[in-house]
Amino acid sequence: MNIVDIIAKKRDGLELTKEEITYFVTGYTNKEIPDYQASALCMAIFLNSMTDREIADLTFAMLHSGDVIDLTSIAGVKVDKHSTGGVGDKTTLVVGPLVAACETKVAKMSGRGLGHTGGTLDKLESIDGFNISIASDDFIKQVNEIGISVIGQTANLVPADKLLYALRDVTATVASIPLIASSIMSKKLASGADKIVLDVKCGKGAFMETFEDAKELAEKMVAIGKLLNRETVAFITNMNQPLGLAVGNSLEVIEAIDTLNGNGPEDFTLLCVELASEMVRLTHEGMRLEEARQLVEKAIEDKTGLKKLEQMVAMQGGNQAFVIDTSMFKPSNDVYDVVLDETGFVSALDALMIGEAAMHLGAGRKVKTDEVDHAVGIILTKKIGDEIKAGDVVAKVHANTEPTEAINIIKKAFVLSSDSIDKAKMVYDIVR
Ligand code: URA
Repeated sequence: MNIVDIIAKKRDGLELTKEEITYFVTGYTNKEIPDYQASALCMAIFLNSMTDREIADLTFAMLHSGDVIDLTSIAGVKVDKHSTGGVGDKTTLVVGPLVAACETKVAKMSGRGLGHTGGTLDKLESIDGFNISIASDDFIKQVNEIGISVIGQTANLVPADKLLYALRDVTATVASIPLIASSIMSKKLASGADKIVLDVKCGKGAFMETFEDAKELAEKMVAIGKLLNRETVAFITNMNQPLGLAVGNSLEVIEAIDTLNGNGPEDFTLLCVELASEMVRLTHEGMRLEEARQLVEKAIEDKTGLKKLEQMVAMQGGNQAFVIDTSMFKPSNDVYDVVLDETGFVSALDALMIGEAAMHLGAGRKVKTDEVDHAVGIILTKKIGDEIKAGDVVAKVHANTEPTEAINIIKKAFVLSSDSIDKAKMVYDIVR
């Protein structure tokens, strides 16, 4: 087999065989195929796409490029949840404990943030002592005991994706539906869960800006799950504005704790309840969605979800007092008001810009090797549909450095209209 022929075949819009796809993934992972040929093939895939069968074969080859986690020693059905990435997306911190409180096992491997999107691991590390790299035996033991653990991906989980993602990042081939679908699903399948719930973000702060693209990505991933025997459900949700009010690591953990206490922002609480209900339904044979929703809502009311988070923090070496008393989180040195001098209704609130402003403050990484500052970030005080009078505070900036650039970006992220605007819809569609 010859990589030049494979590139030419995809360049000409033809379908690759399973053997050709496996040859490429194995050869690139083993460094036998150089970056320039892998880039050419990624661009050909970007331009000519792939059939469902090709995407499933690509996913399968990638998932077997490294470790495949065996969760069979955890009793019961294991569920995983993945978001395609957004701004203010702290759903794992709420959904995981809620689902665990409803007798569902969550053995989750999460990632770090890059660019305008945050990562669950960075958020969890704003709790003093929290360890995201516990030994795999302890991981399994913890999930068996309390139903939940969230750790970092093992170093050798889907190495093909690590290499390909870094290459796509610098060759303008990230936003390709077959490449995103195989990247996400290979990691989810290698992580070992029996059922998968995906949150495909759609809008200005997401990889998929239009509903049509988000739906196509959702359908492809659900199809891969089906072809590889893992039941997968994909939500398509609104990322035209940040999720909830908090953006930034410890600020988001505090908002997650408030939500588990029943005091979360409306949009964020709604999304968490919907995702968690689907996860509970999927793992309980014969359960209706409405029954699952009642269990999840009860886990908020009776604080059993919050208790699960507290247990998880304690078992992973973190100081559980942070969950009980959120004033324990280290604050930023300063808090600045962001004031708009216009009057009207918020008609748009650019999630991408808010994510960028948070990154400027140090909450996110410009490049992979950057350190994040857990204390800094943004608390929005107005969102789409809210009325603003000139002089109103629209956001509070928690900063440890000079905040002018971030404040200017936040001001530009707000678009006002003189007409009243409906509150934004949270869940656009569900692909089962
Ligand atoms: N998230 C991933 O894990 N992979 C992609 O390709 C895009 C988003």
